[in-house]
Amino acid sequence: MNFYSKISINFDCEVVEGGYLLQTSLISPVKSPSYFNNNYSMIQKIKKQKPRCKPFTVEALDDFIHLSKFLRKDEFNELLISFYNKWGPFIKLGENYKTTKKLFQLLEDSEFAKQNMEYPPYDFGSDLFSKKYQEIEWHYDDSGELHPAFKPKTLFNAIYLAWGLNQKSKKIKKICKYFKFFGMRKNCIQYFEITRDNKEFCSRDCSNAFRQKPNWQEKIQQDLAIRVKQTKIKLNRLNINN
Ligand SMILES: [Zn+2]
Repeated sequence: MNFYSKISINFDCEVVEGGYLLQTSLISPVKSPSYFNNNYSMIQKIKKQKPRCKPFTVEALDDFIHLSKFLRKDEFNELLISFYNKWGPFIKLGENYKTTKKLFQLLEDSEFAKQNMEYPPYDFGSDLFSKKYQEIEWHYDDSGELHPAFKPKTLFNAIYLAWGLNQKSKKIKKICKYFKFFGMRKNCIQYFEITRDNKEFCSRDCSNAFRQKPNWQEKIQQDLAIRVKQTKIKLNRLNINN
């Protein structure tokens, strides 16, 4: 049975009007502090100011993805502050890179997996549907319609849930290997719908034409080297985490 249902994400972002700061540790100041060495933690500019509630929207997900593209770049701190000023903390006040690193990597790895057509399991490896992180409840929307709603416990859970629910269910298309390495070709459809996992070309024709190219093996070697490098980076990251 297939049915279509609206699902809401009900989360109130808590944002202080006075804004946020990244503060370096006062106890053990370092010469050149960096967010990525956990030298900064997020604080309120005006201590004890009560936050205001603002409804979570999918814009927070877009902003988060945008922000993650600047990881380890010079602009990052500034962009992080403006994210905080707009949406509040990912988890809670005082968070530093030790906390947020996992969040950025989770979304980055999920995106990476998605692009390789390997969706993460629907618990997203972070127990997304666990009651600890969010509950599901009934909800009347603005038009008075009743439908299920997730109630995440943190901004990041709302963001990640929005990411998961936002995935288009359409079959993903794969790039024809001929087109990937050698560009356009008559009768090549460039992107084709996947029927079985290991199909690499849009047609037998493209497959044959590919092997007639004098440097096709070289091209594959280059591509392989890039992939190995990417996987190594990913594995290194996993090792650091464990
Ligand atoms: Zn083709």
